[in-house]
Amino acid sequence: MNHFDYHDDALNCEQVSLTELADTVGTPLYVYSSATLERHYNVFADALSSKPGLRSPRDEAPLVAYAMKANSNMGVLATLAAQGCGADTVSEGEIRKALKAGVPANRIVFSGVGKTDAEMAFALKDGIYQLNVESRPELERLARVAAELNMVAPFVIRINPGVGAGGHEKITTGGAKDKFGISAEEALSLYAGAAGHPNLAPMGIACHIGSQILDLKPLQEAFTRMRGWVEQLRANGLSVERLDLGGGLGVPYFNQKEPATIADYADMTALAVGNLGVRYTFEPGRLIAANAGVLISRVIHVHEREDSGQQFLVLDAAMNDLLRPALYDAFHDIRPVARPGNETAKYDVVGPICETGDTFTRGRDMPVMKAGDLVAFMSAGAYGAVMGSEYNSRPLAPEVLVRDADWSIVRPRPSYDEMMAREPIPAWFTPAPKVKTA
Ligand SMILES: *Cc1c(COP(=O)(O)O)cnc(C)c1O
Repeated sequence: MNHFDYHDDALNCEQVSLTELADTVGTPLYVYSSATLERHYNVFADALSSKPGLRSPRDEAPLVAYAMKANSNMGVLATLAAQGCGADTVSEGEIRKALKAGVPANRIVFSGVGKTDAEMAFALKDGIYQLNVESRPELERLARVAAELNMVAPFVIRINPGVGAGGHEKITTGGAKDKFGISAEEALSLYAGAAGHPNLAPMGIACHIGSQILDLKPLQEAFTRMRGWVEQLRANGLSVERLDLGGGLGVPYFNQKEPATIADYADMTALAVGNLGVRYTFEPGRLIAANAGVLISRVIHVHEREDSGQQFLVLDAAMNDLLRPALYDAFHDIRPVARPGNETAKYDVVGPICETGDTFTRGRDMPVMKAGDLVAFMSAGAYGAVMGSEYNSRPLAPEVLVRDADWSIVRPRPSYDEMMAREPIPAWFTPAPKVKTA
């Protein structure tokens, strides 16, 4: 469920008209709904914490650590932090942003296959909840970094459970050939090796098998294997206090079968891995942010090719603003912001960038559109603005956060002067570049 609906002949975000926002802020722009973010977090957190088998021995609710790579806007993070949400981070920049947005250090998880020594040291000094270690060399470096700081590093090992899943090969992470995690066999031996180390505190194991997973089967298979490995570690006399089950539950994009519900996910999880006497962690990203955001764009013109008769809807948003269609062949529902009539036409929806990949969809039946009309790319709150770039020297699209009838620009569009100021011309050209004339 989300808070984008038609009222008074225009699509609204909560009580704010997207037409008015587009007119005031300019297009393209991202718009996020506070109510949707809060709802998604709370529905997920409540479904899990209400399962007695998923509470820790000290009766703690699972840690829901929002995978902030999905959308790391400070306004979004602050909204989630205020609800008690934690953060799953993949860089020092993300840890810093999470802390500044009000996520307590003890709700921050640090994931990723290539943490640098400096990043690990930063995380340890800030006292984050745990580092999710993804390989032997990383564990060796963590031991060294922790020893230099005279600290004990709490970590879990990410096991690659050998169950790949996800909506596209580029977002599948649990297969044997993916770069993420290590085999269970190697993980168990690393875990045992770390148990006696003065600077390492092995707390448990983690997995994350992919993204946009619609079906519970692969998750259930992976979780069941995780249970087996927890039991095996304990049988070997090792203590296991934490189990991190990753993110990956898909969201409706309205072009494929509906994803499993959160209630079913919670039931499955409690059955597959409940009652292990651990503190559970979950790392949802897309599930929280995707349907909480839209990208609004204006039609520059409609171009009909005389040879093929194809109609191109040329927008002022492009692949630099929303990369998912170009990168993953991803589908976004594209709705007119003004309440549409019944007449439809077939459009290729494209951006102005000089790349064929700058195509959002081909031959889509849509309400008839004309120059100046606004469209909304639905479900663009996750892996949207965060992947934005200034390719073709197009300024980053601004981001707006809505709460009820109120809204705030949470990332302004840079001016052209600001963009150019970030790229100083070398001093040897001052006062002005000398241009060869001959
Ligand atoms: C990307 C990622 C997530 C979040 O995935 P979603 O599909 O957005 O829920 C969680 N954990 C890790 C380790 C990730 O890399």
